[in-house]
Amino acid sequence: MLKKNLDIVLANIDRALARRRGRLLTGDVVKLIAVTKNHPVQALEAVKALGVVDIGENRVQEARQKKEAMPEGFCWHLLGHLQTNKVKQAVSTFDIIESADSEKVLTAINNAAQQQGKIQDVLLQLNIARELQKNGFSQEAYEQLLPILKTFENIRVRGLMVIAQKCDDTEETRPVFRKGYLEFVRLREYLSSGAVDTLSMGMTHDYRVAVEEGANSVRIGTALFGERNYGKAKEE
Ligand SMILES: *Cc1c(COP(=O)(O)O)cnc(C)c1O
Repeated sequence: MLKKNLDIVLANIDRALARRRGRLLTGDVVKLIAVTKNHPVQALEAVKALGVVDIGENRVQEARQKKEAMPEGFCWHLLGHLQTNKVKQAVSTFDIIESADSEKVLTAINNAAQQQGKIQDVLLQLNIARELQKNGFSQEAYEQLLPILKTFENIRVRGLMVIAQKCDDTEETRPVFRKGYLEFVRLREYLSSGAVDTLSMGMTHDYRVAVEEGANSVRIGTALFGERNYGKAKEE
């Protein structure tokens, strides 16, 4: 079941890559992040057996529990909104924080990373699909952030994360992802840093469009593992 789902997702990514027009600065390889939130550790073991080691989780506590139970060899991505009181634990747990969405949380991440002697990889979450979303930098907040980005000495900015709006027609997400790509190119030039290499866009319902528009990292839960059961755990 999982193997079949994974094969379908990988084939869809390949087809979307083939439909990409022009030479994009995000290259022609797409990283698949298996989003295991609300799924047991067995889900992580199962995807690893199929060669997927990038794991996405939304909550710090849930990820820590899974990480304790798991052998080494995974790359941990934080996808959910991060509260400042969880930052220390997040920095010690995650290889990359994809959901950095305020100057305040970046400052806290930088301080925690300094204390832990770590350079923390981070994506800036942009709120492009404004309606319905509360997290992510607004354009205004992002413009204010750019000039001070380089002052966070213990943060390595790797790129951007974008979540599109939920909609029946995934074509409606295309302008959001297109804008995400343009902002990625701009950020790369602005920081003139080779470290800016990741554009994380697309989840189960819209990853094909996201890849067509330049995503080189997609975050997939449902298409791999089926619907999540929120009966037990609560999402933030
Ligand atoms: C849950 C989640 C995903 C995965 O969503 P699916 O629709 O199950 O693929 C991806 N990105 C973020 C930020 C999420 O919170």
